[in-house]
Amino acid sequence: MKAAVLEEYRKIVWKEVPEPKIAGNEVLIKVKYACICGSDQHIFLGEFHPRTQVPLIPGHEFAGEIVETGPEVRNYKKGDRVAVDPIIWCGKCPACQRHHYPACTTLKLIGVDLDGGFAEYVKAPEHMLYRITPGITDEQAALVEVLSIGFHACNRAKVENDDSVVIWGAGKVGQSILQAVRTKTKSTLIMVDVLDARLKRAKNTFPDIHIINVAREDPVERIKEITGGRGVDVAFEAVGHYQDLNGKVNPIRGCIQSIRGAGKVCVLGLSDEITPVLFKELIWREATIIASRVSHGEFAETIKNLQEGRIKPEALVTDVLTADKTQEAFEMLEAEPDKHLKILLKL
Ligand SMILES: [Zn+2]
Ligand SMILES: [Zn+2]
Repeated sequence: MKAAVLEEYRKIVWKEVPEPKIAGNEVLIKVKYACICGSDQHIFLGEFHPRTQVPLIPGHEFAGEIVETGPEVRNYKKGDRVAVDPIIWCGKCPACQRHHYPACTTLKLIGVDLDGGFAEYVKAPEHMLYRITPGITDEQAALVEVLSIGFHACNRAKVENDDSVVIWGAGKVGQSILQAVRTKTKSTLIMVDVLDARLKRAKNTFPDIHIINVAREDPVERIKEITGGRGVDVAFEAVGHYQDLNGKVNPIRGCIQSIRGAGKVCVLGLSDEITPVLFKELIWREATIIASRVSHGEFAETIKNLQEGRIKPEALVTDVLTADKTQEAFEMLEAEPDKHLKILLKL
């Protein structure tokens, strides 16, 4: 089979590799579409080293059709369309014993710690599969993983019907949260970013939301204005770096300043930087900070919402390329981050 192999950091080659061999409870999937994640961009640059060892076939966001099943597979058959929840937990650590799998001490992902879906075929055990229903296209199926991250964040923060929400960061994760939030609450929704293109993309998809460009406006002041001085119920941090925005406030502190008394901040952005937080601002609000990582069973919720047409996944996709152009796709994302959001790879 052919696969996009990360041979060395910054160099992906579309080449012939051995097809995965399945056994026991595994299925072989013919991948239809895969998409590039922000994490993949870090992997491409070698920033996940030593976790990611080259050569590696990346890709943890993908979906396709089963072409072969192992002898112990019970609930799936050849021809079934599936998405794969790529997380592999140990089942034994303190978090796993509390069924808190995204916090597993030795959490691994298909496409990060082992070969993934930027390939014509990939294998996965039956318990990692989610059936794709007929109303969902192959392109949409490949977005189930990233959309599930949005639903997981909403579930972690317990977003409810009347909650007003601000999302700091309108990138891939922020836009996924936006999609999920809109299925949960009818109330005020605000997005904050520095790139107009990303804010416009959000606004075009959901015209009733408020957008704030931090390069031109003071975000906290605007959020107070929009909410009549009250502050929002929930703030999501999906920026991924912790430098001061517009020389004023870093994203986490901005989130804390955005919420009402007893409000919630949910953090998702991954960065190695230390972030100054003024704890008094948190304590005076008796507020809660919650962390959210990957997803935990939200594939089912995402698939149901996609099937019922309650989310607009196309809003996330800026480009569709054939998988032999994977190297070009990564270069595009690096060169012009404001032009591209999700790039789908067609296998
Ligand atoms: Zn991802
Ligand atoms: Zn564990």
